[in-house]
Amino acid sequence: MQGIMLPRTLLARRGPSSRITLAQGSKNRHVQLYSCLYSTVSRTYIDTHTHLDMILKRLRQPHTHYPALCKEVHLNTPMEACIHVSCSPATFEDGLRLVENYDNVYGAFGVHPKSAKEYNLSVAKRIRSILLPTSREASVHDRDMHNSHTAENDETNTKRSIESGNNKQPKSSEDNTRTAKDGRDTSDKPFVRRYRAIALGECGLDYSQRDSWGGDEKIRHEKELQKRVFIDQIQLAVKLNVPLVIHTREAEDDTLEILMRHLPSTHPTHLHCFTSHVSLAVALLKSHTGLCIGFTGAVTFKSAHVLRNTVRKVPLNRILLETDGPFMAPEPHRGKTCVPSMIPYIAECVAKVKGVDASQVYEQARINTHKVYGI
Ligand SMILES: [Zn+2]
Repeated sequence: MQGIMLPRTLLARRGPSSRITLAQGSKNRHVQLYSCLYSTVSRTYIDTHTHLDMILKRLRQPHTHYPALCKEVHLNTPMEACIHVSCSPATFEDGLRLVENYDNVYGAFGVHPKSAKEYNLSVAKRIRSILLPTSREASVHDRDMHNSHTAENDETNTKRSIESGNNKQPKSSEDNTRTAKDGRDTSDKPFVRRYRAIALGECGLDYSQRDSWGGDEKIRHEKELQKRVFIDQIQLAVKLNVPLVIHTREAEDDTLEILMRHLPSTHPTHLHCFTSHVSLAVALLKSHTGLCIGFTGAVTFKSAHVLRNTVRKVPLNRILLETDGPFMAPEPHRGKTCVPSMIPYIAECVAKVKGVDASQVYEQARINTHKVYGI
């Protein structure tokens, strides 16, 4: 059965506390509609990974064009929200602007492996300041002042980790303990509505262009750099207790080794745009119970038999729907600029592969999104 269409004013996020935030013209107003709508609206979605800045650039449109993107509806299924990913330091401010201006845009901030050279201590600090909840900033600041030796140690660890490749996990400091005890704050406190900056990433490993890196020595050097930057961001996500978004391409063995060593098994994690060998998916689903796997429009490509076989092997309760727009527009729009509203083609394809109704895919993917991102 097809769910009801949400009016545009209700194209909004479902909060973790059974609430819906009205998206248009009614900031900060909440209504307790989540429970009743959730039972009747089975077809809506959050695009869990998109690059709005790149989409708008390709479309040659300013930020203000975003609401027009939201109006696009494919296969009669409206978009609820999206997670915009800023994956290089130069894009962070643009990303923040999108997140701050639009109620149904959430943000992830991190450094992509292809930009690993741009990662340094001040970038790590910027990511930390973006992701730290405002409501806790004062207490964290006070705590840092009182525990300056701890803060210094953290910075030293970060610097050492990046510069010398020391990948040892830092000892559990008071800071770590407190953050873990606090847990990630997913309540509707002001900072959530103001920033909606909720995750760290995408970060990871990408060896797909190794043939252009030069000789063996340069390949080794580039791989080591990517690994150090990846590990440092994993540790930062764990320390801040925020979801981690991982990019991995043609780097199965190193990805698995690093995650087994550095990522706690229950940490909320999105292994995004999965195109790696199915064995990596199987191993990580087993070892990391907090991890879900994101599939993009690539699953709809006619030649993507291997990827659809991976979809078949990943349980529905571990799947996230994502476009990775502007890339990989699904069939029948392959080759066009991919936008968040194209998720329904991916959902339909996953449903077909799984032999279930599309409503089931939307509903379970929505639950999985809440599980990983708390939204
Ligand atoms: Zn991406």
